[in-house]
Amino acid sequence: MEKKVIHRREAQLLLRAIKEGRISFFKPLVSFSGGVHYPEVQEITGADPHESAELLESLEREGILASEEAENLIVCPVCGSHQFFIQIRCRTCGSMKISKAPMLEHLKCGMIETEDVFRQGDRLVCPKCRKPLTAIGVDYRKHGYFYHCSSCGRFDPSPEKRYICQNGHSSGDSDLQLKRVPGYRLSPGGLAILEKELIDLGRVAQRLQSLGFYAEAPARIRGKSGVVHEFDLVVWGSKDSAVPSAAVSIYASDRPLDSMIVLATMAKSIDVASGATLIAAIPSLDQPARNLAEGYGMQVVEAGSASDLIEEIRTRLEGVLQKPEVVRSTPPETY
Ligand SMILES: [Zn+2]
Ligand SMILES: [Zn+2]
Ligand SMILES: [Zn+2]
Repeated sequence: MEKKVIHRREAQLLLRAIKEGRISFFKPLVSFSGGVHYPEVQEITGADPHESAELLESLEREGILASEEAENLIVCPVCGSHQFFIQIRCRTCGSMKISKAPMLEHLKCGMIETEDVFRQGDRLVCPKCRKPLTAIGVDYRKHGYFYHCSSCGRFDPSPEKRYICQNGHSSGDSDLQLKRVPGYRLSPGGLAILEKELIDLGRVAQRLQSLGFYAEAPARIRGKSGVVHEFDLVVWGSKDSAVPSAAVSIYASDRPLDSMIVLATMAKSIDVASGATLIAAIPSLDQPARNLAEGYGMQVVEAGSASDLIEEIRTRLEGVLQKPEVVRSTPPETY
């Protein structure tokens, strides 16, 4: 199955949080103003509520996460909005001239009518037997509420409800959509996918350190221009080296990557005066991008999965860094 989302930065941040045990369940939060949120996803990735929900759905489609029932939300069948106001109308004539009235029963004679029919000033008097009503529960009782249509006179305990969404769509009870609001956790096969697809160069950095280099993954370093650049991995000959021996940038997409990333990588690599520049792509560079990268003398690494890519980066770096001219690259005279 084509992996489209898992290599995206936001997905990688979530996977890393799961792997590090910072989160195991993405619980939804439903609110009137924001609809469905996944607060932890927003916090970890910086995505907005809509993007957060989409990200989780995509990761479920790609088999890493599994959803489970958590909450629900009634939404407009036309536009999906959950923000409604409610109006009622008469089931018989459709009129909205409706009042809500408590129903009273005079226990002595069995008369049932709305309260206003019994009311005479501040007293309640039975319109049938003319006796005053004295005490609730003794000689009369309440029969709940009825809705009275003043257009056709119908009394109805449950008139038709109309739900009008924020975009003006009017729906009845039976039209409304019940939307499932799931929570998400790692699927049964998710851990294996996570191990395979988490782009984590930490172990490569450790390996290079054990070979005597100094490495950081990820790394933020300031270039000659003063701009701070981000790399997925930077290797120095030693901790005191003025300039990096190699800088690695990883890019991932669902299709071959184009030459823009080669230009961007070259620009930051020149700015930090890196000895070797390694551009790593999931799944690949397109042919013009590959030509351009090789023309610039960059190392190109391509693989379909994160674990293959990481292995390939490690092998390539160990090869490149053994070359004395790279390891001994001298810093430029001035900045
Ligand atoms: Zn609507
Ligand atoms: Zn009566
Ligand atoms: Zn009516």
